[in-house]
Amino acid sequence: MELSTNGSLWINGEQVKTENNISVYNPATGEKIGSVSKAGGSETKLAIDAAYQAFPSWAKLPPDERNGYLSKWKEAILKNVNELAVLLSNEQGKPVKEAKGEIYGSMQLLTWHMEEAKRIYGEIIPASNSNQQLFVKKEPIGVVGLITPMNFPVATVMRKLASALTAGCTVVFKPAGKTPMIAHELFKLLMETGLPRGVANFVTGNASEIGSTLMEDERVRKVSFTGSTKVGKKLMELASYNVKRLSLELGGNSPVIVFPDADLEKATDEIIANKFENCGQVCNGINLMYVHENIHESFVSLLVEKVQKLKVDVGIKLDCDIGPLIDEYALEKVETLVNDAVAKGAEPLLGGERLQEGIYESGYFYPPTILDRVTRDMNISNEEIFGPVAPILTFTDEKQVIQQANDTPYGLAAYVYTNDMLRINRLLDVDGLNVGNIAINGTSLAYPQGPFGGTKNSGLGREGGRQGQEAFYELKYVVMNF
Ligand code: NAP
Repeated sequence: MELSTNGSLWINGEQVKTENNISVYNPATGEKIGSVSKAGGSETKLAIDAAYQAFPSWAKLPPDERNGYLSKWKEAILKNVNELAVLLSNEQGKPVKEAKGEIYGSMQLLTWHMEEAKRIYGEIIPASNSNQQLFVKKEPIGVVGLITPMNFPVATVMRKLASALTAGCTVVFKPAGKTPMIAHELFKLLMETGLPRGVANFVTGNASEIGSTLMEDERVRKVSFTGSTKVGKKLMELASYNVKRLSLELGGNSPVIVFPDADLEKATDEIIANKFENCGQVCNGINLMYVHENIHESFVSLLVEKVQKLKVDVGIKLDCDIGPLIDEYALEKVETLVNDAVAKGAEPLLGGERLQEGIYESGYFYPPTILDRVTRDMNISNEEIFGPVAPILTFTDEKQVIQQANDTPYGLAAYVYTNDMLRINRLLDVDGLNVGNIAINGTSLAYPQGPFGGTKNSGLGREGGRQGQEAFYELKYVVMNF
């Protein structure tokens, strides 16, 4: 496929260009890679008009007919996977092998939701009177606004579009301002499937104008947002105008807890894979490593030995393990957190300062960093790092570590390494770890069939799985009298 360098909006099936554009840069090299249209409230309104018009006929199509368009879309994406992976890597910074993995994983999401939408059943309820029938229909919720973040610009887009479109909703979609190009190309391929006009609309531009237009328009029945807790809270306030349905996938502060009976070779491999994926810019990425005092020395020496082999480079180099952070703001945030921790007594065992020489000169590179002897009073223990920094804290007591792991406004994910079944049971119990997602002896959570989502400040609702699909339907309870 020929990749666009000057992206447009898509409203009612038509490409729409605006007078002003947003430039997009490669975070590894600082080079401009293209631009997209800069829309505001008026274009968003037109996109809502189109989605509203298109809704009834799209909603009434049988799931298999809707899936026809989405299967064509999937075929087109897979045919162009190499070009799309290079674009994703250039725009977001992640290693091209991770970019390819993200695209293939997203195709599994799409397939799963196409299947699931065929199995959304209503319910017949035993009636109270013999002349009645009571039942519940599940109907697509209506026009939905979809807003996605910069860290997984294909997976987050696919999760939302796959569940909304297969359910029969029509959409107005806004990708992150740092990574709109890959979303634009995915959309272009979606438009080429012959999807009916107005079913899917694409806007890029002024985030708060687009966001508030979506929130204030009563025809938009739901907004599904993935991004920071700060923006999620703003949207929640705006949702009260029209009692709009909301799904919020927000930030995290996820711990891994390593007990003395853990298999340390396996644990360190998996913890490294989680911690340094996408340069640490993963919502459910490990923020804090709680390691039992008795195994602290062996854990740390294995971690350092393995992490120092990771290669930091420009994402499109095939042997790159870690690319740059997304921008200067992200880099400064990581620097500030590390400096604060070191000033308060943390010991840097690897990394700890931004990379600026040679190939790193024009990008936002930060090396994989291991900080030992981190304590709870350091800012790094309380904020989402979103960077390649592994803070190590030690513990001796199970109850105390549970209390520390829960002592955060977030509740997205937690990881535990132990083979003790009774301990696992305690950690999974209602007074155990207070998070939406837990992996035991592993650090992967992203499976299409799993209902992913957070508690507390990490969000509302679930994405993926049956629950994620059902979030795009409204219930209609019917009492029929004869
Ligand atoms: P962000 O700054 O909150 O942006 C997310 C999206 O919201 C972008 O499209 C952004 O547009 C848009 N936005 C910004 N202000 C808005 C407003 N006032 N109204 C409506 N939309 C607005 O987050 P990010 O930096 O892209 O992503 C990182 C965050 O996402 C982290 O906190 C991470 O934990 C979280 N995340 C959570 C999950 C999960 O499943 N829980 C998954 C991935 C990421 P612009 O880019 O144009 O400003």
